[in-house]
Amino acid sequence: MGAQLGHIEFRDLAMAFGSGADATLAVDDVSMEVKPGEFVTIIGPSGCGKSTLLNLAAGFLKPDRGAVLLNGKAIDGPGADRGVVFQQYSLFPWMSVKTNVEFGLRMQGVSKSKREAAARTLLGLAGLSAFENRFPDQLSGGMKQRVGIVRALATSPQVLLMDEPFGALDAQTRVVMQEILTNMWQRFRLSVLFITHDIEESIFLSDRIFVMTARPGRIKAVIEVPLPRPRVPEMLASPEFLALKMHLQRLIREESLIAMGGELKDGGLAGFGTEVGPAGVVELV
Ligand code: ADP
Repeated sequence: MGAQLGHIEFRDLAMAFGSGADATLAVDDVSMEVKPGEFVTIIGPSGCGKSTLLNLAAGFLKPDRGAVLLNGKAIDGPGADRGVVFQQYSLFPWMSVKTNVEFGLRMQGVSKSKREAAARTLLGLAGLSAFENRFPDQLSGGMKQRVGIVRALATSPQVLLMDEPFGALDAQTRVVMQEILTNMWQRFRLSVLFITHDIEESIFLSDRIFVMTARPGRIKAVIEVPLPRPRVPEMLASPEFLALKMHLQRLIREESLIAMGGELKDGGLAGFGTEVGPAGVVELV
């Protein structure tokens, strides 16, 4: 499993939605890469174009300017070389867990015995062996998303593209999912492009974090995460982690204020009886 490691490159990318006076420039001047085997997170305020970048890499969208490349070749549509996991669980509700995981392999014409063996191995790694005959609506949110990840891994993609996959989960489940994901990523060593707006999540998971500006999204900063692997929850309290978190909070707060209304400033907010929270979220006080 995990044949070739994918190398994703965004080169001088621009993408707008709509046309003429109604056009919305979603991302502009974006150049970045996910190196083979790297875990990269994109973080930025709501509406800055994170999902647009992921959809371009998935081949669901085509750029207006620039190029998106996989292993040096322009991406011209979806493909089995890229597995995608969204926040909404996209499991087929009428199929059992095991049949869901086997689905991509069945489409590729893999024999029943081989795809059953692959599904069982992966479900075992994700701690889901006991649930292989359950149906999605019999599972918790965390379990559904574990099945979603396992299903995306089953066809041995070179890249995993994940759009806020843990966004709908409670905080505790989310932390466990982050550990499961990093463990699976280390085992398979595939390349991951992960979208989030959660600063701690981005640090815990990533080798590198790309911080985006408010729309039109551009790359504001690239942060290397020097924490060793495997990542463990105790690291969340380490001085290195906390320093990175503060740095990211500052960067994202600036952009969140811009995204929220152009003229909002920390000082200006004080006059309205509001405070800007640590992640750039405005809280009423
Ligand atoms: P993010 O994932 O960072 O929240 P998106 O990539 O979803 O941001 O969207 C970036 C911008 O492009 C937003 O302003 C959004 O409203 C706009 N946008 C995204 N998709 C479409 C679409 N299909 N049609 C029109 N506008 C869109």
